[in-house]
Amino acid sequence: MKRSQLIMIWLLPVIVIGGLFYPILGYLVIAMMSSLLLLSYFKKGRFWCWNLCPRGAFLDIVLLKFSAKKPVPKIFTKKWFRWLIFAIFISFLTFRIILTGGNLIAVGAVFVRICLVTTIIAIVLGVLMKQRAWCMICPMGTLQEKIGKIAQRRRP
Ligand code: SF4
Repeated sequence: MKRSQLIMIWLLPVIVIGGLFYPILGYLVIAMMSSLLLLSYFKKGRFWCWNLCPRGAFLDIVLLKFSAKKPVPKIFTKKWFRWLIFAIFISFLTFRIILTGGNLIAVGAVFVRICLVTTIIAIVLGVLMKQRAWCMICPMGTLQEKIGKIAQRRRP
């Protein structure tokens, strides 16, 4: 458990619970997505995941105590499967944003809901398998890894 995780973990309830009452909090998700993309390029691929992600911190600090710690299915390690999850996630997110018709509060609500739904999935997987099972197929994790590899190739 890292000190940064102890600080960041609080953002998870702020977003998934507070966001239900104040959808504008969904913009924190957008800020975090932007930060993790920048960090994956300029730091290491998954720097965000291991140090700053509020959900990752929750899985490591809280869910670890309830996890069956069972191995994840092999399919979770397959690239095609991880990119399929990524494609479904992005398509769903885009579709929901289009449905808002540009209403900024509704856009915030979309990000709150997507964070809530993926957190529920992460909890279910984390209880049944390893606590970080979700992180193996998390669309943001997949994207960070890809960006990290591209950045590594470009470095002298
Ligand atoms: S893989 Fe996703 S949920 Fe897991 S720590 Fe990284 S960004 Fe957070």
